[in-house]
Amino acid sequence: MEDMQLLVRPKPFLDESLESYLLRLAEANFIESYRLLSGAVKEWLLEQDHEAGGAFPLDLATANIWHARQSSSFRIRAFSLLEKLTDNEDLPLLALSLRHSAADFCGGYRALARGGVHIPRCFIRKSTIPVCPLCLSENIYIPQAWHYQAYTACVRHGVKLIDKCPSCGESLSYLESEMIGSCRCGYDLSLAQTIQADEKNILLGKLITCEETEFPGPLGYMSSISIRNAALLYYCIISSVNVEDELEVYESLLLAMDFYASWPFRFKEILSESFDKANEILIRPYNKTPISFAIGSCLPASTMIKGMRQEENFILSELFGCLKNIVENNPKSRVGNRGDMLLTIVEAAVLLRTTHEQIYLLLESGYLKAAGRIKIHQKVSPHEPTFYLRQVVELAESRMPSDFGVVATYLPHR
Ligand SMILES: [Zn+2]
Ligand SMILES: [Zn+2]
Repeated sequence: MEDMQLLVRPKPFLDESLESYLLRLAEANFIESYRLLSGAVKEWLLEQDHEAGGAFPLDLATANIWHARQSSSFRIRAFSLLEKLTDNEDLPLLALSLRHSAADFCGGYRALARGGVHIPRCFIRKSTIPVCPLCLSENIYIPQAWHYQAYTACVRHGVKLIDKCPSCGESLSYLESEMIGSCRCGYDLSLAQTIQADEKNILLGKLITCEETEFPGPLGYMSSISIRNAALLYYCIISSVNVEDELEVYESLLLAMDFYASWPFRFKEILSESFDKANEILIRPYNKTPISFAIGSCLPASTMIKGMRQEENFILSELFGCLKNIVENNPKSRVGNRGDMLLTIVEAAVLLRTTHEQIYLLLESGYLKAAGRIKIHQKVSPHEPTFYLRQVVELAESRMPSDFGVVATYLPHR
């Protein structure tokens, strides 16, 4: 198809979003809208490769690769065919895309990835995409970071991003308006007044976009942005935030900064308050009460990113230390105490830094004993409170292998 040659290829900015680049690609080739571009590309692709063509996104708002549900590999193929559309140098589409990540955040939260950085999906803005007028006055494109909820201040200019058009008051979203430098009403967004941003908002923006920051505590000395994202999500989870609610998440992210700046002081305080609270409202004896009754998801979520290196998981280390103290300060006695609260297979695997499979093997071979009777020939559910905290902590203490790599192996597979 000859008229599908995209002769002009604007140079991408390193931090540019895929959607921003697609809009600039259309414009540079005098194609009036993304819809006209995508329609033509789709038709062309369908002739080359039916599956890939079928997976090519027509709407800008859902153009990015992570929006593809079943067919994300077809969509990757579609973009890679489009990259090679002409004999000129390749288009940078895949490098700019945001994709599904295989990383499991905080015990089961979905994540997306771009260029090796992983971000929980619930931290991506859903509708409004704010802009920095000063950035737009320098270069007309949208950086990926403007899609992140934690990014509310421009780290380069130190000003607040604006999320409404100063002229017509409409919420800004270049994905819907298909316009980068101006509002749907025609207002030139680079002319908008700017306000100095709070230091805290700028710091938060830096935490999730720059490896180097002066932030105190573990978030500062961890240079991995993925780990910082996991830590921020962890705080949202233990604060029982509805992660689908953008405002709640944003407010919680600011609180998370105080939480980690004083690490581990506030964390220890929260844990101890939770156990005290549980003590007041305890319904059944301790040795029949799951630990989640006291500390909710604190334990299962503390994996941060499944498979990460042990020494980087500062949350699990701290939590383990606290639980160890509880066991030591509450020795085994005739009556159950805090040290005898119950852990599920999932929770035991987190504390022992190993797989569910290993926990089942430890159970079968008697290294771990079930607190109650278990039915023969029936697999214990991973979410069933099964082990005493004391026993798991003691096993971790006695057998914790330090040099087994990421996953601790206790017993050989049979
Ligand atoms: Zn800026
Ligand atoms: Zn407007």
